[in-house]
Amino acid sequence: MRVVVDKGVLRSYVRRALRAFPKEYMASVWGRVVADEIHVCLLTHIAHLGTNGACFYDEEELKGHDEEAREVGLRWLGTIHSHPQDCAAPSVADVETAATDGELVLGICSITKAAGSKRRKVDVKFWPVVLPAETEVR
Ligand SMILES: [Zn+2]
Repeated sequence: MRVVVDKGVLRSYVRRALRAFPKEYMASVWGRVVADEIHVCLLTHIAHLGTNGACFYDEEELKGHDEEAREVGLRWLGTIHSHPQDCAAPSVADVETAATDGELVLGICSITKAAGSKRRKVDVKFWPVVLPAETEVR
């Protein structure tokens, strides 16, 4: 599956994530599923508490901009959060939470800064969330 992200939308999220650094910053992902592509069109703010290792939020917050997005034909696709001083791969807990919340894609924005350097390196990756199949043991 391919994920296509609007450049301006991503840039604005990264700007907010850099401002929150070294705390994590989270947003909801809205867009469209077109054939086998996921088009990310909106990254909306979620009221949350970001710490140096996690984001805390109310589940209802995830789809908080529901009406606004649906009016322009977008659906909720998942979330994105930053990984200050960490890689752009999701943790086991990230994947479990995303699956529980019913996410289709999970975005991770890695922000790393070397000691003594002012520059921060940003790497964003979107991961498909694969739900485990319903398993029946006979
Ligand atoms: Zn994470």
